[in-house]
Amino acid sequence: MTRVIVTGGAGFIGSALVRHLVGDLGFETLVIDKLTYAGDLAALAPVSSSPLYRFVQADICDSAAVRATIADFQPDAIMHLAAETHVDRSIDGPADFIRTNILGSFCLLEAAEAYWRGLSEPARSRFRFHHVSTDEVFGALGDTGTFHDHSPYDPRSPYSASKAASDHLVRAWYHSFNLPVLITNCSNNYGPYHFPEKLIPLMILRGLAGDDLPVYGDGSNVRDWLHVEDHARALAQVMLRGVPGESYLIGGNAEKTNLAVVETLCDLLDRDVPRKDGRSHKEQICFVADRPGHDYRYAVDASKIRRELGWEPRHDFASGMEATVRWYLENGDWLEARKASGYRGERLGLSVG
Ligand code: NAD
Repeated sequence: MTRVIVTGGAGFIGSALVRHLVGDLGFETLVIDKLTYAGDLAALAPVSSSPLYRFVQADICDSAAVRATIADFQPDAIMHLAAETHVDRSIDGPADFIRTNILGSFCLLEAAEAYWRGLSEPARSRFRFHHVSTDEVFGALGDTGTFHDHSPYDPRSPYSASKAASDHLVRAWYHSFNLPVLITNCSNNYGPYHFPEKLIPLMILRGLAGDDLPVYGDGSNVRDWLHVEDHARALAQVMLRGVPGESYLIGGNAEKTNLAVVETLCDLLDRDVPRKDGRSHKEQICFVADRPGHDYRYAVDASKIRRELGWEPRHDFASGMEATVRWYLENGDWLEARKASGYRGERLGLSVG
């Protein structure tokens, strides 16, 4: 298996995946990406001069462009990551989430199925359609328990509802049309090239600027954190060795409250870039109105992918956060350029409630 299409390959996770497929595995990889505000060609610069890498700027809702690109490239697998992804934006304006995450996934499934039907038998049995989804489709947990691959769907935000809808469509294409699909549902990712509207890069950016560090509610919401490069390796394992029709949950077994994450960042900033006044960055933390419908806790049981596919994360939370903060400190130009691309660090997602 050597030829892979990655939709959303200019995004945070997509670009980590493409760097892994091209740089580590030597796979011919074609990115389809619309380059929305979240797309970033700089994140693909490490592989952009490789003869294994190609890029097509297209909207996944553009059936003709998607079909032509698939027919031209003749992939062995399509890994589908293109999506609108920011929960707060989905509260302010759900339309793009419905369009890209649901209609776009439908367009891609139709194009993939038509291509797959035209393949020779050996190529048909090799082909995989891999949908990259989120643990947020399962809703919120209380203080105990974990999500597993048979957890009921219970999405709460327009973002998670649109991802749940696309998971259901992908599963329908398996049962109704036999398309060999795989679904992965992953917990929260962190790492390099993360658009600075998301918690970790936003806090680093604001911490360095001496601004307030706004934590939603009382900071007690819990997320399970995974380094994006561990997610990319997990995705490649599932695409290569996963069983069609199956779902795999991916998580770092690193549950942290949002407040603990921000305090860890402050400790690392205090050590590496101490404030001129000698005080801790923790003094910049403030508590702001909670996100409407903020899910209390997510935690993932990733034992299936560990047991069946032998995947293990390489970073634990401490080493991953340390590497991440170091990357942002060494790539201040990238962070400033992303900030200049339109987002000024303002609070999103309060248009209701
Ligand atoms: P991202 O927002 O960083 O990147 C999304 C990419 O998709 C961008 O490059 C954007 O230009 C592209 N895109 C958006 N709409 C498009 C369209 N209509 N046509 C073509 N391209 C389009 O997202 P991410 O954080 O890298 O997430 C990637 C996938 O992983 C998403 O499907 C998301 O739901 C899922 N996921 C993310 C996380 C996380 O913690 N970030 C966790 C689990 C699952």
